[in-house]
Amino acid sequence: MLEKLLHNITKISADLFCKLLGQPSVSDLKAQLHDKNVQIHQLEDQEKALYRVISKIRASLELETIFRTATKETCKLLRVERIAVYRFHNDWGGEFVNDFEFAEPGWDDVDTLGKNTVWNDSYLQEHQGGRYRNNETLVVSDVYSTGLSQCHLEILEQFHIRAYATAPIFVGKKLWGVLAAYQHSQPHEWKKLEIQFLSQIATHLGFAVKQAELLAQAEQKAAELHKANQQQEIVFNLVAEIRESLNLDTLFKTTVREVRKALRADRVGIFRFYPESNYTSGEFVSENVLPDCDSVIGIIVQDRCFAEKYAVAYHQGRIQVLSNIYQAGIKDCHLLVLEQFKIKAQIVVPLMKGKTLWGLLCVHQCRCSRDWKTLEIKFIRQLAGQFNVALEHSELLEQSRLQANQLIQANHALEVANSKLEKLSKLDGLTKIANRRCFDEFLEREWNRLKQTGNYLSLILLDIDYFKDYNDYYGHLAGDECLIQVASAAQTVLKRPTDLLARYGGEEFIVLLPNTNESGAIKVTKLIHQSIEKLKISHTKKNSSQYFVTVSLGVATRIPTTKSSAQELVDAADKALYKAKEQGRNRWVCAAKF
Ligand code: GH3
Ligand code: MG
Ligand code: MG
Repeated sequence: MLEKLLHNITKISADLFCKLLGQPSVSDLKAQLHDKNVQIHQLEDQEKALYRVISKIRASLELETIFRTATKETCKLLRVERIAVYRFHNDWGGEFVNDFEFAEPGWDDVDTLGKNTVWNDSYLQEHQGGRYRNNETLVVSDVYSTGLSQCHLEILEQFHIRAYATAPIFVGKKLWGVLAAYQHSQPHEWKKLEIQFLSQIATHLGFAVKQAELLAQAEQKAAELHKANQQQEIVFNLVAEIRESLNLDTLFKTTVREVRKALRADRVGIFRFYPESNYTSGEFVSENVLPDCDSVIGIIVQDRCFAEKYAVAYHQGRIQVLSNIYQAGIKDCHLLVLEQFKIKAQIVVPLMKGKTLWGLLCVHQCRCSRDWKTLEIKFIRQLAGQFNVALEHSELLEQSRLQANQLIQANHALEVANSKLEKLSKLDGLTKIANRRCFDEFLEREWNRLKQTGNYLSLILLDIDYFKDYNDYYGHLAGDECLIQVASAAQTVLKRPTDLLARYGGEEFIVLLPNTNESGAIKVTKLIHQSIEKLKISHTKKNSSQYFVTVSLGVATRIPTTKSSAQELVDAADKALYKAKEQGRNRWVCAAKF
């Protein structure tokens, strides 16, 4: 009991000591680590969930499936009662799209917002989308405590809406609609992560709509092409391939290969501007070229002429179609660059990443001039459009991956810190050997283990003689140094990996020797006694006679059984130690021998 109390006091005073020093205590650090761990895991879970939903969005080309999956998943993940999609009309009125909505059972057929409900919000109409235009989200935790206007409240009541959060859906630059999460039964305190999540899903839905629109366009054009020159299949395959390539390099290679094949051109290349160069320089990052034409890969292109005369036009979506570079009336500086690459005819289309001119898709004819057909020009335009979307997508996914990697690394660092802390919490700060807590755990474990095998467990308790006098004479710091040396001398004796030396408290040490009988334990005891004697640490007693620091030791051995306890073994060694002190110190006594 007393032992336990002492143990607790030691533990509490360690924390107090840390507090007094203004240092975080081990338990503070542990709590901080725990909080960090929880945060990291929440973020990680959100990333995973987001990645999963985005993958599902990407997996389908059909808008209805995309929205159904996204609203259902979002509803489940946010644990709200309804996720609905509101779509703006041209006059900034709008309606909830029936097929895109998902509601939890109980809310799925009463007063639904989703039955193509027209909801013309005069504020949104007047302000052409209002705050959503600025890509802002709207969060209301309780409609009754947000100061909403009476007419607004009435509409919300009509649909039993108690709390809601909304995020705008943009298709390209156009505000297309709103993704809305509703709680009917009660108010809902929206968390930052939930709103972030809703917003990210809305962004990806925007991409999906954009892709569906582009795809619809591509399909329409492809049908026309099919009639004219059977190129439909190529376009469709290419669009699909571009969509699937999450990796930029694959995207580049697919694009140049397919475009060259489709147009039977001599060379197709993707040129990328160096980001900080202000369109004055860049290089081809990918190409597909006929064997008898030169490769342009690895050549750095410096072209001030482009920056000055052409960059703005490309930025605005202009494409350049040259059938014969010598008859096109182009600037001399431009002609020089084209000659450098032996180009006779070309189509050049801007590649955009968001609003920035990222690079150029170049279709070259090197062997002779060429009259480009309208359909060929259209085809290349469409492809560039697909390419732009994919370019943006791949970057988003790359960011997502990067973030996931950072999280994994942070997690790893936390684990390392955790295990360091775990080790530290088991070490004695002064002597760097195991502390009392570590010893108690180890003793309990070994006792139970040897109970099963019926083997010996020995224990040595060691106490420095006249240590109080030592402290009084040499000072506390020297006393500390003496403790370090005694611990180290005892440690050198122990050879088996299962032997454990620990600081038991003050100037008392304890040694646990699993699988060791009494004679083995006595051997170790003698060696420890000698090892400390050999240190020859001076100790001047008050009566000024000179001698060296000595220790008294008590040894006990037991075979653990269910009827006895580990504490009895410690008590036996303690009694033996007491006996050694009584008999004059600087000696060892074995528990069985008195
Ligand atoms: P005995 O031979 O009977 O063991 O006498 P003793 O003086 O060693 O025994 P006592 O228990 O009276 O004194 C132990 C002393 O150990 C008291 C305390 O000043 C000293 N002590 C305990 N922990 C530390 C420590 O961490 N550093 C130092 N320097 N001294 C310590
Ligand atoms: Mg003592
Ligand atoms: Mg002592």
